[in-house]
Amino acid sequence: MSDLFEKIVSLSKRRGFIFQSSEIYGGLSATYDYGPLGVELKRNVTQRWWNSMVYQHQNISGLDAAILMHPTTWKASGHVDAFNDPLIDDKTSKMRYRADQLIEGHIDRLRRKGKDEEADRVYQGLVDALNAEDSAKALYDVIMSEEIRSPDSGMFDWTEVRHFNLMFDTTIGPVSNPDNKIYLRPETAQGIFVNFHNVRETGRHQVPFGIAQIGKAFRNEIVARQFIFRMREFEQMEMQYFVQPGTQMEAFEQWREERMNWHLSNGIRASKLRWHEHEKLAHYADAAQDIQYEFPIGWQEVEGIHSRTDFDLKAHQEHSGKKMEYFDPRSNEKYIPYVVETSVGLDRTVLTLLCEAYREEEVGGDTRTLMKFHPKLAPITVGILPLVKKDGMPELAHKIEDRLKDQMNTFYDEKGAVGRRYRRMDEIGTPYCVTVDGESVEEGTVTVRERDTMQQERIPVDNLLGYLVERIADWKVS
Ligand code: ATP
Repeated sequence: MSDLFEKIVSLSKRRGFIFQSSEIYGGLSATYDYGPLGVELKRNVTQRWWNSMVYQHQNISGLDAAILMHPTTWKASGHVDAFNDPLIDDKTSKMRYRADQLIEGHIDRLRRKGKDEEADRVYQGLVDALNAEDSAKALYDVIMSEEIRSPDSGMFDWTEVRHFNLMFDTTIGPVSNPDNKIYLRPETAQGIFVNFHNVRETGRHQVPFGIAQIGKAFRNEIVARQFIFRMREFEQMEMQYFVQPGTQMEAFEQWREERMNWHLSNGIRASKLRWHEHEKLAHYADAAQDIQYEFPIGWQEVEGIHSRTDFDLKAHQEHSGKKMEYFDPRSNEKYIPYVVETSVGLDRTVLTLLCEAYREEEVGGDTRTLMKFHPKLAPITVGILPLVKKDGMPELAHKIEDRLKDQMNTFYDEKGAVGRRYRRMDEIGTPYCVTVDGESVEEGTVTVRERDTMQQERIPVDNLLGYLVERIADWKVS
């Protein structure tokens, strides 16, 4: 793990953003709990996503489907047969890897050494292997021919590549037998597909329209050593957009643009985001691109935009015997709609924000650590700090807090020197602090201190809410 990544993991724990799950028992790998600040950050992200998808588009409705679904769902979707990752073991260290990621890591190393031609050749080998009929064997052959060594032990002592299904299963009801096997959903999308007609009819939608959902998904990931980047239990924010066949590329382009703009609107610098085309299209897709962010662990996917054709609805029609067709009154034809999907990880978005926000600055010979969150995403918007715990200052501070609380998340803190309190607020990314002093009690003015510039301004208490709302709206990433 890079130094920067370690600092972010450590700050997340120290300040109550994210904890290892079941920590007192030694933890459970690749599962995490969100602490008091993390849960606020996460809620703000979901709210922004919901707002941009559901409230900003009249033709998109929300849904909250169950995690447990009829097992035939996963047969129809292809997950039972094909939701596999290729795994390979280092016999010396007993460490397990994803074969495709091992090759990707090798390509990255070649590029870092300036060996672009070689990297291009290996990349082509990876693409061919992923598309090969026996992809496990083909990936194994690439690892052998390129003599790719284990990143941890440095050995070249591999097992064969095997496919491993990522779905968690369990049994429903009191009797445990194979007929009662069900799965924890590995994606939220299928809950949307099986509710296609329910939402369309009750929402009185006509194609094109979308269904949006936020919820948990579970994947028994082979390699899960990167904090909340790859978890076994995580949350997705997905939207399936149903369109007339033949118009899917137009919708694909529209959603590509809208989704990139969403990440930018969260205060992510444009230089840290890029598009990545899939090396191998999933069995259901006719186009797929990812939005990648430059994490301290390298460029990695945050969101996928996929054109899924009519694969899913058609498959559910076949397996359920229920018609998934739509009669289009405008074209007077019946068809199974095509689907463009936007699928973003909630936890990965949170990780993006943590990585993007983390800054260290030299101030007067000291290092100031700050989290430069967008004010609309910051767990706490305003810290309210009475200078001392007497002379009417706490009372006025509480009054101000009451006035702001409805509009923004506030935090009252009267403990310790005010400079230390500012630093604490910087470290958790609070964009504004309001300091209440003697003058505030006498003249009704307060000091507003900005996290990013550390500048302070004196504002009449009566104008405070309007002032803050304006500053939040004007905030720009720097
Ligand atoms: P990857 O290639 O990283 O395994 P994927 O292509 O399988 O991801 P999708 O199935 O397209 O991912 O899922 C959509 C989004 O869900 C991803 O862009 C990511 O943000 C999130 N996601 C997927 N798997 C995980 C995971 N194990 N932990 C956290 N988020 C995940």
